[in-house]
Amino acid sequence: MNQQQLIDNIAKVSSRVRLAAQKSQRKECDIRVLAVSKTRPAEAIRVAAQAGLNEFGENYLQEALDKMADLKDLNLVWHFIGPIQSNKTRAIAEHFQWVHSVDRLKIARRLSEQRPDNLDPLNICLQINLSSEASKSGVAPQQAAELLRGAAELQRIRVRGLMAIPAPTDDEAQQRRNFARLRELLETLKQQMPALDTLSMGMSADLESAIAEGATIVRIGTDLFGARDG
Ligand SMILES: *Cc1c(COP(=O)(O)O)cnc(C)c1O
Repeated sequence: MNQQQLIDNIAKVSSRVRLAAQKSQRKECDIRVLAVSKTRPAEAIRVAAQAGLNEFGENYLQEALDKMADLKDLNLVWHFIGPIQSNKTRAIAEHFQWVHSVDRLKIARRLSEQRPDNLDPLNICLQINLSSEASKSGVAPQQAAELLRGAAELQRIRVRGLMAIPAPTDDEAQQRRNFARLRELLETLKQQMPALDTLSMGMSADLESAIAEGATIVRIGTDLFGARDG
């Protein structure tokens, strides 16, 4: 992928976001594009940053730390979006501003305890498993309220909302139903915690459906950086 292609892709994704926002009478500025940069070299992130993106999502801790070191001259916002093992929480708490994939209280507690005092509280989303067959990650929707109750008491994290990765489907109506379930769950949980303001949902193939159902962060890899090998 050369620099011009990446710049073109960023423009295309931005116009899809703009159009989807217009269609559902939402403000474009209420929807952020998180550039998912897993498996991409630091140089691609640097080009994307020059082209105006400043939030990047990473799934693999060591890879992310290496790239952060290369890019520390830039003022980027880093989001951890992959599965979290408990022995990785300290480095995540020290180096990221957001974590989208918190699905158990033990992880939330460790992130809170290990968040350095000189940094703002860590923003987190609770990852919800909408289709229990499709993936092992995420808390069941029925268990979300209990997880939120525990996480809400922790001092050094700030629960911002929900994230999900629904089973991929080309059926737009099904995409909408999946994202609607996440939106409805957020609305229910807001009775418990009114400050919740984030729905992290929608990827390259389904960002329009996600925005129609209220996504505030869409996580885009392929349609920005090209197909990943493997
Ligand atoms: C890889 C990944 C994405 C990006 O997916 P694309 O289909 O490449 O846009 C989004 N969210 C998560 C959690 C991912 O792991």
